[in-house]
Amino acid sequence: MSDGPGDNGKHRPATRVVEAGRRAEWTGPVVNPPVWRASTHLYDDSQDLAKGRTNEDGHFYYGRRGAPTQWALCDALTTLEPGAAGTVLYPSGVAAIAGALLSVLETGDVLLMTDNVYEPSRAMARNLLAPLGIETRFFDPLDVDGFAGHFCDRTKAVLFESPGSLTMEVADIPALSDIAREKCAISLIDNTWATPLGLPVLERGCDVAIMSLTKHVGGHSDLMMGSVSAGEKLYRKIRLKSQAMGTVVSPDDASLALRGLRTMAVRLERSTATALELARWLSDQPQVAHVLCPMLEGTPGNALWQRDFSGGCGLFSIVLKGSSVSQRAAFIDALELFGIGFSWGGFESLAIPFDPTGARSVTPWPPEGWDSEDRLGVRFSIGLEDSADLMQDVAQALAKMDTA
Ligand SMILES: *Cc1c(COP(=O)(O)O)cnc(C)c1O
Repeated sequence: MSDGPGDNGKHRPATRVVEAGRRAEWTGPVVNPPVWRASTHLYDDSQDLAKGRTNEDGHFYYGRRGAPTQWALCDALTTLEPGAAGTVLYPSGVAAIAGALLSVLETGDVLLMTDNVYEPSRAMARNLLAPLGIETRFFDPLDVDGFAGHFCDRTKAVLFESPGSLTMEVADIPALSDIAREKCAISLIDNTWATPLGLPVLERGCDVAIMSLTKHVGGHSDLMMGSVSAGEKLYRKIRLKSQAMGTVVSPDDASLALRGLRTMAVRLERSTATALELARWLSDQPQVAHVLCPMLEGTPGNALWQRDFSGGCGLFSIVLKGSSVSQRAAFIDALELFGIGFSWGGFESLAIPFDPTGARSVTPWPPEGWDSEDRLGVRFSIGLEDSADLMQDVAQALAKMDTA
């Protein structure tokens, strides 16, 4: 039950995260919707049962169709995504990507997938889509001129992700999604990095916005969830598929996600500022060959980021200068304030090693023009710690790498 762009669409994003999804009929007298646990709806009598309930959010029917806590979260996410008519929740970000793709693709179709995609999306092409007779072809997200050449009459959808996972290339999403539209293909984008606060993707030309809420929306590393938002026609289709699959998220998790959402704008602002400070400092360090951070002035993606995005986040990467795997391990292991772990977008900083060499189909790693020795990456997820403490920690760990 969404009012399209949202009844509070007149406010700016930081205000909308505070007020979105707060409806008196769902929240009662409290400001965040309580955890509303239920499977069964009790009807007044047989006649009431026979009348049935509409299959719309806002009319409790049966727990699998959601209840006020989940509706409030959906409504809030829809309000934050200009152009969306509704949002469907999934038990993880990966489930959201799968749910969206399976809603728009059928046997015999071809999907175009950006070559710097999140690795589990690539695995999905292999392990979920290929056995269903859906073919996936990869494309270089930076080659706008060559993009139209990837389409054939079976190409039904494109999966974008910008900045790309780990390597952070920024794609020209408005130009690429224009081409996809001309080719009658549906463009989906994994917008976990920017969230609609940083990149309102439906306004930039995409048809379907996907997010792992596990990251910035949850924000506290204690929740798994995903979402898909779209305009009316596609939203209906995606919702129907998710109902056919029996997808549900618990009201407890929905409540945590809503709580996280309320502070997302300030958390993003803070972690973006710290990440940028750290990225600037790292770009001057002799052990660092490349800083892969769209917010950093002078990096390849920065011009597009400046043009299309209204915010960043704390996730960025570096590529070490000709280091060995053991030197990189010495650096990461010497970090005291950064946990070593997957996921990101939490309040605590993390660092992981990466090497995209095996996870690419059509673009080389290292990219053309780089020294072939400079290939080992470290990805940072910057949390809410004091930036001077983080900087000091990275400095002492780099020094330990030199002596390893
Ligand atoms: C983590 C992540 C996902 C998957 O989210 P989960 O909630 O962990 O399933 C999807 N896309 C990107 C870019 C991610 O980083």
